[in-house]
Amino acid sequence: MNYKLAVLAGDGIGREVVGEATQVLQQAARLYGFSVELEEGLVGGASIDEYGAPLTDPVLKLAKESDSVLLGAMGGPKWDGLDYSIRPERALLALRQQLGLFANLRPVKVFSALTSASTLKREVVEGTDMLVVRELTGGIYFGQPKGVTRLADGSERGVNTEVYTTPEIERIAHVAFQAARKRRRKVTSVDKANVLEATELWRKVVSRVHQEGRYEDVRLEHMLVDNCAMQLIRDPKQFDVMVTTNMFGDILSDEAAMLTGSIGMLPSASLGGKVGMYEPVHGSAPDIAGQDKANPLATILTVALMLRHSLNQSEAADRIERAVEAVLNSGYRTLDIQEKDCRAVGCREMGRLVREKIEFFKG
Ligand code: NAD
Repeated sequence: MNYKLAVLAGDGIGREVVGEATQVLQQAARLYGFSVELEEGLVGGASIDEYGAPLTDPVLKLAKESDSVLLGAMGGPKWDGLDYSIRPERALLALRQQLGLFANLRPVKVFSALTSASTLKREVVEGTDMLVVRELTGGIYFGQPKGVTRLADGSERGVNTEVYTTPEIERIAHVAFQAARKRRRKVTSVDKANVLEATELWRKVVSRVHQEGRYEDVRLEHMLVDNCAMQLIRDPKQFDVMVTTNMFGDILSDEAAMLTGSIGMLPSASLGGKVGMYEPVHGSAPDIAGQDKANPLATILTVALMLRHSLNQSEAADRIERAVEAVLNSGYRTLDIQEKDCRAVGCREMGRLVREKIEFFKG
């Protein structure tokens, strides 16, 4: 089996963490008898510097024609002054839209070795294992009208619009219910139905899909987003699958990330179209870029998600996840998850340690 992978490392630590993760992928390919052809493309700030745009047609074509896309991170202070329409992060939104990736899956699992790396108490986070399903191509990030206009009195008015249609809600609800069936069979749908009409519709449609889709084996509950933000840090173990809108999912998944100790631990998958796109949840971390300080585990775990969901290589995925857990159990930590009595390592060394464990693990 030969897979074609588009590798879009992007900016900042994106390049560092993707470098480690692709080495893990090639190692898994060798161990499990498949091959991966990596084709690299520039996106984000790197593409702006070279071509004047965050995403070019050849890179989009490369992504569309691949079996899967591995993305690093985009953006940084160098490009912050640019107009929103050509900012590095636009490439991310464009790729999601062009590839039809409407569902973002973010597993949030607290590794037992890291329970004390979280800022929350051990007994609160220990055993947390949830999946955030975030709607990705609709809502306020894309709704029209949007923009800033100047008013007659010289002041300005900024507008963004939260928009959801019935089919957009139906398809993400199906993703959540089906994912719950492979887990603990509970879905929490998060909205602001008491204030926002668009999410009142969200609640109505999710309930209807639950009934008409014959998901009676899955328990559905609805939660207001403000309460959810509290519940996530009060009792995260109550959640199994959480499904929510684009903006609420963006915020809540970063909050959930902190349960694990660091945003540097969280992988994500964006699905829905022919080609899946896989990326760590974190950004380009300009504050630590180029210093070999980044945690590559989120991107390494992202490769495991890709192997499982797009490349049908779940044994290789399991082996990578077990290797990550074993390295953490051996007491190695990057700076973001550093604890007393643990051995501090950089990005490259962490990648090497994972590969060493993969090599010696039985499949
Ligand atoms: P960020 O995720 O880049 O960094 C937030 C904090 O977490 C920083 O202190 C950083 O050092 C730390 N951090 C993040 N990933 C880490 C890792 N793997 N290992 C160790 N520490 C890590 O978010 P930000 O600072 O808000 O954004 C920086 C840039 O990244 C901005 O330009 C933003 O627009 C962009 N961004 C891109 C994406 C993406 O490409 N998917 C996502 C979020 C932010």
